[in-house]
Amino acid sequence: MYDLKAVRADFPILSRSIYKKYPLIYLDNGATTQKPRCVVDAMTEEYYNVNANVHRGVHFLSQQATELHEGSRETVRKFINARSIGEIVFTRGTTESINLVASCYGEACMKEGDEVIISEMEHHSNIVSWQLLQARRRIRLRVIPIDDEGHLRMDEYERLFTPRTRMVSVAHVSNVLGTVNPVKEIVSIAHAHGVPVLIDGAQSTPHFSVDVQTIDCDFYAFSGHKIYGPTGIGVLYGKEEWLDRIPPYMGGGEMIQNVSFEKTTFNELPFKFEAGTPDYVASTGLARALDYVSSLGMDQIEAHERNLTTYAMQQMAAIPGMRIFGPSECHDAVISFLVGNIHHLDMGTLLDRLGIAVRTGHHCAEPLMHRLGIEGTVRASFGLYNTREEVDALVQGIDRVRQMFL
Ligand code: PLP
Repeated sequence: MYDLKAVRADFPILSRSIYKKYPLIYLDNGATTQKPRCVVDAMTEEYYNVNANVHRGVHFLSQQATELHEGSRETVRKFINARSIGEIVFTRGTTESINLVASCYGEACMKEGDEVIISEMEHHSNIVSWQLLQARRRIRLRVIPIDDEGHLRMDEYERLFTPRTRMVSVAHVSNVLGTVNPVKEIVSIAHAHGVPVLIDGAQSTPHFSVDVQTIDCDFYAFSGHKIYGPTGIGVLYGKEEWLDRIPPYMGGGEMIQNVSFEKTTFNELPFKFEAGTPDYVASTGLARALDYVSSLGMDQIEAHERNLTTYAMQQMAAIPGMRIFGPSECHDAVISFLVGNIHHLDMGTLLDRLGIAVRTGHHCAEPLMHRLGIEGTVRASFGLYNTREEVDALVQGIDRVRQMFL
């Protein structure tokens, strides 16, 4: 059974009061999640008792820190079911992972006139990284449109392939619409055209179990801080054949095998992509967070959050003037909405005064806002610790704000 009370007790911040409202209602999990005590404790313990730079040291502490760091890599591997630890590259987060692929894959495999397929619902991280490559290599971006419900137009997707298509890069889950994209189908269509696929997993990994071998994607990116882990660490999964083929991202530190002024050879995977001292304490925190969600069970977390989201969408729909964006089916734990012509900032600010944290604005998805014909939304996003009572408070809060504007 999913013991919500016990789960909430693991997160000290949830008993904080804001503006004398008790306790805080935190519904901004799409931006970042709160941290359970075990994650912070594991990191504190490492700083106090183990700290030493990894990989290069012969001394005890360095070896212990290295074991922890490499053990964390194995935890990540298991979590997403990668074939080998060589396929798990630690980065600073989803953004860095996508930039790494755009930059290194672009360098090795793309030339002027080549094309990348992205979608209309992408986060800026999965647009701008490719635009930077576009500026260097004069590549073309082709964009999968969405339908009015917020699903990808799969018929249009198929039509976007040309002999110049070199990559498909799409989100697993939209951070605005909550749409869960059919990534297996997206990958199989791309592969039928001989094109690799990068999946942005920033909003999927915290909510349901992900198996990169089942999806069969070539790259998969996610962030530690969105899955109850620390900031400053994320993951790039890449199939070994691709990681072997593309050049390193940055130079220095652990990514070399031998260096001379004439020639440098690079380290084996995944170290080829990890220049400089890695954030080995954050990797411990991330592994602890993954152990934590695994011990609760990703399926249990998914069921709990799906229930909560369905309940919230039903309750919210009854509010006069409510407009919820995104599909009614296959909707993940993110609800973007507007009420009448109340500005999203006003709604967010007034909800905050009621002790309810939501996010407002374009959510780093400006092209999607243009498609929807709006400037921004209010976004409530749920995590494994949110409750029905919190949803009730949100619904009452929204209605209270609505009445103030009548
Ligand atoms: N992609 C999606 C879908 C996101 O929601 C986010 C963050 O909100 C990112 C990428 C970027 O993640 P990060 O800032 O952790 O790199």
